[in-house]
Amino acid sequence: STESVPSLAQTTCPYCGVGCGVDITMQQEAGNTVLTSLTGTPEHPANFGRLCVKGTNLLDTNSENGRLLFPAINGERASWDEATTAIAEKMVSVIKTHGPDAVALYVSGQLLTEDYYVANKLMKGYVGSANIDTNSRLCMSSAVGAYKRAFGEDIVPCNYDDLEQTDLLILTGSNAAWTHPVLFQRMERAKRRNPDMKVVVVDPRATDSATLADFHIALKPGTDAVLFNGLLTFIAENDALDNAFIQASTNGFTDALKAAADYSVSEVAKQCDIPEHEVLAFYSLFLNSERAITFFSMGINQSNSGVDKGNAIINCHLASGKIGKAGSGPFSITGQPNAMGGREVGGLANMLAAHMDIENAEHRERVQRFWDAPTIAEKGGLKAVDLFKRINEGKVKFVWIMATNPVVSMPNRSEVEAALSKCEMVVVSDIVQKNDTLKYAHITLPATGWSEKNGTVTNSERRISRQRGLLTPPGEAKHDWQAISLVAAKLGFESAFNYQHPADIFREHAQLTAFENDRERALNLSAFNHISVAEYDNLRPVQWPVTDAAKTGTARMFENGHYFTADGKARFIAITPRLPEQQTSAEFPFVLNTGRSRDQWHTMTRTGKAAKLLKHAPHATLALHPKDREALGIEVNSLVALDSACNTGEPVILPVVEDAQLRRKTCFAPIHWSASWGSNITLGALFNGAHDPLSGQPELKHGAVNLTPA
Ligand code: SF4
Repeated sequence: STESVPSLAQTTCPYCGVGCGVDITMQQEAGNTVLTSLTGTPEHPANFGRLCVKGTNLLDTNSENGRLLFPAINGERASWDEATTAIAEKMVSVIKTHGPDAVALYVSGQLLTEDYYVANKLMKGYVGSANIDTNSRLCMSSAVGAYKRAFGEDIVPCNYDDLEQTDLLILTGSNAAWTHPVLFQRMERAKRRNPDMKVVVVDPRATDSATLADFHIALKPGTDAVLFNGLLTFIAENDALDNAFIQASTNGFTDALKAAADYSVSEVAKQCDIPEHEVLAFYSLFLNSERAITFFSMGINQSNSGVDKGNAIINCHLASGKIGKAGSGPFSITGQPNAMGGREVGGLANMLAAHMDIENAEHRERVQRFWDAPTIAEKGGLKAVDLFKRINEGKVKFVWIMATNPVVSMPNRSEVEAALSKCEMVVVSDIVQKNDTLKYAHITLPATGWSEKNGTVTNSERRISRQRGLLTPPGEAKHDWQAISLVAAKLGFESAFNYQHPADIFREHAQLTAFENDRERALNLSAFNHISVAEYDNLRPVQWPVTDAAKTGTARMFENGHYFTADGKARFIAITPRLPEQQTSAEFPFVLNTGRSRDQWHTMTRTGKAAKLLKHAPHATLALHPKDREALGIEVNSLVALDSACNTGEPVILPVVEDAQLRRKTCFAPIHWSASWGSNITLGALFNGAHDPLSGQPELKHGAVNLTPA
């Protein structure tokens, strides 16, 4: 027999920012490695053995069916050499004629940190443009902006243990029960163990997460900053300020309080359209709880004022001193498995690498010197929405898209499609043969997926874990860092991109985080400056910073009251709440909210393969309040047409389901389905690309639509 004794391996689930560890059993069958079973890793600190339904069914989504196996040029099979030569030649000619800003990379929170690092290095240090952005722009860039303003650096202060050590857990703009289920299970257990722990869910919808809430605040969509400004004023008016902390460790309190002064309890109740007693009850709970966590996600971030909303939350934690302590802090949760790893290596157009700032000449010089690079991007690059606009305007002529499906996930679909149709060269690296974006590709490159990719990811609590390469990539698939390095070599930069193993890249990344970094930045991985391949292969999950002084990592930030601003103090930000940009009108009277289903992931290119995962929600639906449904004269399960002012194509058609927990005149649709799933669903076409001016994150939680029977 060719069968062997099963072996075990540990890796990380690729489906969300919780970053659960998974144990895999593997067997040799007829000369091939087969993954035979999967369980949660008992000792992984993100999940302690637990998995959600997506993680549990991971092996069912991992087949080679539909995989992209070979490079192609204009649909014709090509060799890697031909494809990468064509890419490099086009990049050279575009750069020569139109300058470096006429080329761009659009990457993904699905990339591993090593892929991201190499992509960023090529663009910012060797092409000389910061036009590299990521679909993480749609996910948590507003939280990044808020952290940077308040703390001087993109730092998540808390960890998952804090969820179990708090007196008050506020979930705002997060349906963790569906989007981060393993964390939600931890919250449930914490509340069972400590019935005195209170949970408040702030969300226009009563989602499954609201079942855990002592009370649910169904605020008017988009008014979160009003609610938290009111809380700041309430803290001040009720003698609950931590004056010693404000004095010693912060700046800007007076201005922030002044900006919030008009938000009395009654004014908040009016603007958020909720009863006064609910506002009062929530505020009183915050005051009476020694420890509080505000757990926030896309409902805060995907907004035209997402950064301000994040800072309105952080202000309350600073004012009450509920930060830098067990069970306390503002805690943003990323959607994607490696959104945070991408942030660390400069995967966003407005960041450099190793948390250094692109606007800072000293940082630019330092990164260029470390890389020994011929150039360095001088200014921030195009953020996702603007990137596709500039492609559409003919300013960006080359784009390389990796591991993401922007035709479905971006707002303003018609503009994205028009942009890709006219772009002189579109390169798409993906693991699948078909999706809505691949049809615009001139060159397609087969990438590796989960279980083949080999590298690291960072989860929402700053914890770096290994995703391990267990299977041989199918066909001619290559890792993204290899594809980028091949192109870099053809651009003449072979020696700077001569990586043999992802450990080489990780080591270089660690060295850059530590390079001339004496307490200036928190992201410091100096303990890995000399990491060997064997040590990398055995790397245990660890939270950064990881330095010689903190070899086992750092569970919680700011315990010593030191922040990473120039003066070491945290900054309050004066917030003037703004309404969403896409406002309803007589013609478009419904607010459209979008989000995830429990069992699907992104545009379903992987989770759509598992029959079990399709059971929970076999197709997309539009959820409506029963009274709105009645008023529209639409039966349950019959079809409704959604249209918006910006939609230039056909209306989106969806079957209606009822949800009595929705606010009136709002509706909800899941983000996952698209033309690839045999429907005409293009939710992105209904959003006009409105976005936060600071973070560039699109307002995907607040469209304005009309609904008519279809
Ligand atoms: Fe995977 Fe997230 Fe589920 Fe954990 S919670 S098993 S990381 S999808």
